Amino acid sequence: MNNDEMFSRLVENAFDFLFKAIAEIEDQPKYSVIHFYAAVELFIKARLMKEHWSLVISQRQEADWDKFIAGDFQSVTLTEAANKLRKIVRSGLSKTELDAFKEVANDRNKMVHFFHEAQSVEESGKLKRDIVKKQLKAWFSLHQILVTKWKNEFSPWKDKIQELDNELRKLHEFLRVVFDNLEPQIEENKKKGIVYDECPSCGFEAQELSEDENTIYEAKCLVCGLTENSLNIRCPECGKAVTLKNEGFGQCQSCGKNLEPENIAGTLIDDGAAHIAATEGDDSWGEGNCSDCDGYHTVVRTENDEWICASCFGVFDSLEACGWCNELNTGDMEHSYVSGCNYCEGMAGWHKDD
Ligand SMILES: [Zn+2]
Ligand SMILES: [Zn+2]
Ligand SMILES: [Zn+2]
Ligand SMILES: [Zn+2]
Repeated sequence: MNNDEMFSRLVENAFDFLFKAIAEIEDQPKYSVIHFYAAVELFIKARLMKEHWSLVISQRQEADWDKFIAGDFQSVTLTEAANKLRKIVRSGLSKTELDAFKEVANDRNKMVHFFHEAQSVEESGKLKRDIVKKQLKAWFSLHQILVTKWKNEFSPWKDKIQELDNELRKLHEFLRVVFDNLEPQIEENKKKGIVYDECPSCGFEAQELSEDENTIYEAKCLVCGLTENSLNIRCPECGKAVTLKNEGFGQCQSCGKNLEPENIAGTLIDDGAAHIAATEGDDSWGEGNCSDCDGYHTVVRTENDEWICASCFGVFDSLEACGWCNELNTGDMEHSYVSGCNYCEGMAGWHKDD
């Protein structure tokens, strides 16, 4: 058996566990939780496996192929796996993603050790709703990852991922009672001008938007608890309000203009203050580069005196200049004179060319 075959087996098993988890929710919620988490872990391990099989083995153990294929090894924990994805595979998990996975991991541990059968219909309903909320949130993250940043690795399973997404969306019905209870309050709030969007995780129109403009905030779904980093700005074309989620790409619903980080940075930048600063020789108002998303000149200082990356929606108190190229950057610039930033190679790179 080779690396690719092992990879495929991990992925197939992951799907198997996920379909099982969905089927078990109604009558065997305990097993649903256990199988769901097993699937999450398998997808993550599969991504490590695609890079190199030895990454799946815990760092406390020496990697040995024969033992590996015999199943005689201790595998990475979720935290270890997340570190390896970031540091070695260079395709890490965001905080939201990792938190959603940790929630289902904690649930799994609780179920394995302390599960007791629900004593009443009411108790059993609540238990299932809690499980569904967490599973939908974790799947929302996992699905995003599988169809965007890990798209190439998982493309052979494109149809299966779609099928799974359809199945998981049916679980929304478990949460209808939560929405029904909240609806009068939501309708009341709408009259006061509060805007609700459809939640991308549970599908109910319960994601509460803030009225604040030009600042990143967490839009939270009142039904399932999913939060998304959001930004309200005025459309640079028509001036109407636009809300963007998670990243600086979107479209104005009023005039149809496609918005990209460049437009958003232009809207966010505090022109007046930047202009005065520039005439006074203060260069701490320039556009910075983002070392989180590799955005070039996407980080701008806003009227609220915070730095926002118009591409990945990271928020920073201050930026430092690279010691070599002098560009502002969100990363740690302590050794940048020698090693550079994500846009230059520093002195080391300079000498390499000689
Ligand atoms: Zn929701
Ligand atoms: Zn517009
Ligand atoms: Zn960024
Ligand atoms: Zn630099």
